Amino acid sequence: MTAAGLESAAPGAKIRLFNSLGRQVTDFHPATPGQVRMYSCGPTVYSDPHLGNMRAYVFSDTLRRMLEWKGFAITQVVNITDVGHAVGDGDEGEDKVEVAARAEQRSVREVTDHYTAMFMADMEALNVLRAHEYPRASDYVPKMIDFAVKLDAGGHTYQIASGLYFDTTTSPGYGRLALIPQEGQQAGKRVSADEKRSPADFAIWRADPVGQRRIMRWDSPWGPGVPGWHLECSVMSIDLLGPHFDIHTGGVDHRELHHVNEIAQSEAFLDDGHDWVRLWMHNEFLLSGGAKLSKSAGRMPTIRDLAAAGVPPLAFRYFLLTAHYASQLELTDDGLEAAVSALRRLRGRAERLPPVPAAATLAGARGLVSAAGAVKLEQIDAAASEDLNTPRVLAEVQAALRDPVLPDNDKAVLVAVAGQLLGLRLADPPEEPAPAGRVVDEAAVEELVQAREQARKARDWAEADRLRDELAVIGVAVADTPEGPRWSLA
Ligand SMILES: [Zn+2]
Repeated sequence: MTAAGLESAAPGAKIRLFNSLGRQVTDFHPATPGQVRMYSCGPTVYSDPHLGNMRAYVFSDTLRRMLEWKGFAITQVVNITDVGHAVGDGDEGEDKVEVAARAEQRSVREVTDHYTAMFMADMEALNVLRAHEYPRASDYVPKMIDFAVKLDAGGHTYQIASGLYFDTTTSPGYGRLALIPQEGQQAGKRVSADEKRSPADFAIWRADPVGQRRIMRWDSPWGPGVPGWHLECSVMSIDLLGPHFDIHTGGVDHRELHHVNEIAQSEAFLDDGHDWVRLWMHNEFLLSGGAKLSKSAGRMPTIRDLAAAGVPPLAFRYFLLTAHYASQLELTDDGLEAAVSALRRLRGRAERLPPVPAAATLAGARGLVSAAGAVKLEQIDAAASEDLNTPRVLAEVQAALRDPVLPDNDKAVLVAVAGQLLGLRLADPPEEPAPAGRVVDEAAVEELVQAREQARKARDWAEADRLRDELAVIGVAVADTPEGPRWSLA
């Protein structure tokens, strides 16, 4: 029987996922059997993406891997926010990207291209599968204006000096994702012509601030300006995935405001009486207080900081997966070290096992194991299917490897399965740069750092980036500070 034939005959354990909308674990059923459409809020490309950001992408990737392993066909969209995201995440204030462009003396496009490339490189290092689409917000402004025109025509908006605002009192059930009490909603009373009617109302279109002209701006029926940040995700997801789709993911910080507002405006736009998206999934925070790395850097470290400190990206991924996505996780040196050695041990064991054919799905793996192996496979399936319990998947694999009677062939299949499910490349580890801790030639480092600074001054960004990469390879991280470049051996 082919893998495809088995798939329909044997779906495995029931998939149960925690839905932030309603705050309970529910059975998972996509709208179209066998197909899943998912949207994951992507990065705002104005700075070096740090490890805290990475947790959301590793989470959505692991979710996608589990669903694909269970035989679903996935379409995933991850947006790139390159305009409209104000400093402080609110409706006021400067655009994060424009602030970065000014600080770095680069054009907006140079900044967004640079940080988009860094984001993509981090995704690749973390073995995150490529999304099917990465829409850029700035390419979608005409469609965002069309969307806003419809909201306006439907009576969901009002205009004040700072832009066009969504009237949250027109949204039945506003805030239910964040458990905001309905009685907390204020009636639409007008305070003054220049103020929001209710604190919860949010910008759909942000006009140019008085006396200031943005670098990025578009004409609209409400004057020149930029789209509101929340609007962007609604427009791009509906355009690429259809009016209703199966799963929307993001960090738990988005659950309280960004996603609340996405729901309000999308349901007002669609106006069909249905929930816009039925399943909302959020990963908890990665906390950084416990790591020396973040103390020395004064900020959450990046993938490059970790690599320079001898923690390969996939060991960081392993570290993330040792916790359930919905629990807070503290980044500590001990935790990272434990992950590095646990991953090394797992790979060491995998190396000594016989080669087995690759099986991309649960159904395919079933055809490769003995009856005893099938029991273990079921346990892995049960753990992954029960709200993506990755710590239990890891524990099941480790227990299987220690089992004295399980045939080596079964162990090899189970390791390959876990590697596939968790994105850890257990059976086919990538080549990793030499660990840090070796002696570096300080004069040579200084020379490279200065050469990079010269390249930056000459606005030769390609050369500057090349030199930064060259430094990273020898375990040196460079931070650009107002006082000039500072390098460190992490
Ligand atoms: Zn979003």
